[in-house]
Amino acid sequence: MIITKSKVPEKILEMTKPYKRIFIVGCGTCSTACQTGGEEQVKEMAERLGVKVIGKAVVESPCDLRLVKRDLGGSRQLLEEADALLILSCGAGAQALAEHTGKIIIPGLDTVFVGEIERIGRFYERCRACADCVIYETGGICPVVRCSKGLLNGPCGGMANGKCEASGHTRDCAWVLIYNALKKQGRLDLFAKFRPPMDRSKKAQPQEVVNR
Ligand code: SF4
Ligand code: SF4
Repeated sequence: MIITKSKVPEKILEMTKPYKRIFIVGCGTCSTACQTGGEEQVKEMAERLGVKVIGKAVVESPCDLRLVKRDLGGSRQLLEEADALLILSCGAGAQALAEHTGKIIIPGLDTVFVGEIERIGRFYERCRACADCVIYETGGICPVVRCSKGLLNGPCGGMANGKCEASGHTRDCAWVLIYNALKKQGRLDLFAKFRPPMDRSKKAQPQEVVNR
């Protein structure tokens, strides 16, 4: 899940100020789950911006160009008339909409991380899309994200009583979690294995996966 948070209303008002006709687009997947860009938030935003809003729609997944074309097909005229589009989705969705429409894009949300949802309002970062996943060897726990230093071999000397120094010893040390997970699985040999630094060339930007 791509976790997003809303920009402060003052920032959105500042960005929308130069435009007279605005079309709002929400996201029916991740931003709906985060309660930042679903039907309800799109409606609230339209009420906040008032007469400037000439239309609104929630695309099932705005990061998927096929769904953008499908879900915005009926709004073509209004999209053409709009001076700018206010997008309540992650940055990938916002850019797909920019590509599809060629319009000025106003991002209403900030994209913060790829994460896990415990419940609404409790989101935790779980993956940094490093393109070289190691969690088979680390008990299903990502050291890149969950260790504050991103260490592939741990724990570091700052761990105390199972807690991480970077959090003031309040949050669990990722490498203690990894040790416990591997122990439970009877795979502690993997804990002692040395892992060389990641091959950063696998993460050259921008990433693409083109199979066909
Ligand atoms: S190692 Fe961590 S950051 Fe890399 S792909 Fe796996 S979960 Fe994502
Ligand atoms: S205490 Fe643990 S989680 Fe924190 S930086 Fe060191 S190894 Fe990483």
